[in-house]
Amino acid sequence: MDLGLQDKIALVAASSRGLGRAIAEEFAAEGATLVMCARGDEELQRVAAQVRERNGGRVLAVAADLADPRGVDAVCGAALREFGRVDILVTNAGGPPPGPFESHTPEAWRAAYALTLESTVNMVRAVLPGMKQRRWGRILNVTSIAVKQPVQDLILSNSLRAAVTGFARTLANEVGSFNITVNNMLPGYTRTARLDQLAKKIAKTENVDESKAEERWTSEIPMRRLGEPPEFAALAAFLASERASYITAQSIAVDGGWIKSLV
Ligand code: NAD
Repeated sequence: MDLGLQDKIALVAASSRGLGRAIAEEFAAEGATLVMCARGDEELQRVAAQVRERNGGRVLAVAADLADPRGVDAVCGAALREFGRVDILVTNAGGPPPGPFESHTPEAWRAAYALTLESTVNMVRAVLPGMKQRRWGRILNVTSIAVKQPVQDLILSNSLRAAVTGFARTLANEVGSFNITVNNMLPGYTRTARLDQLAKKIAKTENVDESKAEERWTSEIPMRRLGEPPEFAALAAFLASERASYITAQSIAVDGGWIKSLV
């Protein structure tokens, strides 16, 4: 299937590792021009060089903290200066810390808001005018299975990702007539550093081995295994493509069947 990504400019946020990196790799393999970002410059430049080497395409890598509006300005500004436009935006960032309600200070709530909701809104604000002008755009938000079924001990994530979903669903209504689609991608338990972080927290809190966390997760997944980042990235490539032109306002899980609801 030709996804038609060869002449597209794609900005993939938080892409030095994990799901963002896998999406960047997938887009680059399809011939898209890439803008990557993450906080740490050294790791980001190393990963960007690998992606460039493997696929031969153009890759711009800008170190920035997306929880800071100035970081979003830096990444989006560099993308627009270098390539003149962003056709595909993947919003993404690190996950907010785990823990029950009483463990989180007001400051932790504000930080989670800045990281998860505000960064998404600011990235969209930066690239939407150009998409509307050209009457073509794809906005993909990395959220979580938590928007359909809250995940235990992730109250910050469960709350803020619901807000992103409300934002995206409303935006889809507003920009559909400009041929811009807005969709959310919901990772299930996927093997990345984020999952290692969650396993360590469970091991510490419950005084068990980290492998116990993985066993518990896989026992709840009908496919009886964790997901791998490229399995998630495949959805991004399709939703970003010309072929997904009539799919908008959706929240699609890649979770091996973990969500228990009927639809
Ligand atoms: P990860 O920890 O493997 O990678 C996170 C990436 O985000 C890294 O490149 C990191 O440098 C970057 N990043 C973190 N904070 C940033 C910031 N403030 N500014 C810029 N870049 C920043 O995580 P992942 O597993 O790829 O997860 C991506 C998102 O998906 C997270 O929000 C996570 O909570 C969510 N999610 C992951 C899973 C999973 O199982 N992996 C499941 C559900 C939801």
